[in-house]
Amino acid sequence: MKGLDMLLSSSVGTSGAQRPLGILAALPEELGDLLDAMRAGSGVQTVTHGRREYHVGSVHGVRCVVTLARIGKVAAAATVSALIHAFNIEAIVFAGVAGGVGRAVKIGDIVVSDALLQHDLDASPLFPRFEVPLLGIARFAADPALAAQLAAACERFVAQEGAALAARFGTQMPRVHRGLVISGDQFVASAAAVEALRDAQPDALAVEMEGAAIAQVCYEYGVPCAVVRTISDTADDHAPASFESFLSEIAGTYSTGILQRFLQDFANTRG
Ligand code: SAH
Repeated sequence: MKGLDMLLSSSVGTSGAQRPLGILAALPEELGDLLDAMRAGSGVQTVTHGRREYHVGSVHGVRCVVTLARIGKVAAAATVSALIHAFNIEAIVFAGVAGGVGRAVKIGDIVVSDALLQHDLDASPLFPRFEVPLLGIARFAADPALAAQLAAACERFVAQEGAALAARFGTQMPRVHRGLVISGDQFVASAAAVEALRDAQPDALAVEMEGAAIAQVCYEYGVPCAVVRTISDTADDHAPASFESFLSEIAGTYSTGILQRFLQDFANTRG
C-alpha cells in the first residue's frame, strides 16, 4: 500500500492532475500489446492491491491504470471497486472476448455494448427476474459517448485491418455490432444453453462473464463505462475449442488494434 499511497499522492491524485482512465480485461491475451506500449512510452509503475496488479502509466497519450480482473462477476466487481477507490479513475473501458448469441453475430465480429444485464440473476418472485434487488434495474447502460468513441475505433480498425484479419485467420470480414451484452458466472457452451439465453433475452448479442457486474458498480458510483467484446465462439458445443484458439491466436490482435485507436482518439478529444 505504500507504493499505492505514493502514486495517489503524486501522479494519479485528485488535485489538479487529470484522473486516469481504467482499462480492464479478464485475461492477459485480451490486453493485446497495451502493457508493452505503456512500458515503451511512459514506463509502468505496478502496484499490487487485493491480489491484482495495477499498472499505472501513460499509453497512446492517455494516463491509464491497466489491470486484469480475472474471470467472473465477483472478480470484475471487486477490481472495478478498487479502480474507483484506490486509483480514482475517471472512466472504465473493458476489452475482451465473448460468445456470440445474436444470430447475425459471427466469430471475429466485434460487439460494443449499449446495455448490460446479468442473465443469471433471479430473485423472483420477490423481484422481477434479472432485476438487481433493491436497485430496480436489470439493464445498465454503457456511457453513450464512451461507447460511441469505442465503436468508432472498432469501425476504423475493421476498415483498416478487417480484410487482412479475415484472410489471416480464415474468418469472414468482421462486422461491428452495438447492443445488449449479457453476463453470468457460466461459460456458455451448448446449443441448448445459448438457445435458452436467446429465448430469455431476444436482443442479446453476446454473452460473457464480467461486463454487467462492471456496469452495475459503475452505475452505483456514477463512473462512465464501456465494454467491447470480440466474438471468440458462438456459445455452443464448439465453444471451448473455439474460445481457446481464438484467445491464444487472435484476441490480442483485436485488442491491440482497437485500444490503440480508441486511446489515440480519446487523447485528442480530451485535449
Ligand atoms: N479457460 C479459461 C477460462 C475462460 S472463461 C481459463 O482457464 O483461463 C471465458 C472468458 O471469456 C470469460 O472471461 C468470459 O467473459 C469470456 N467468454 C468467452 N466466451 C464465452 C462464453 N461462451 N460464455 C461465457 N463467457 C465467455
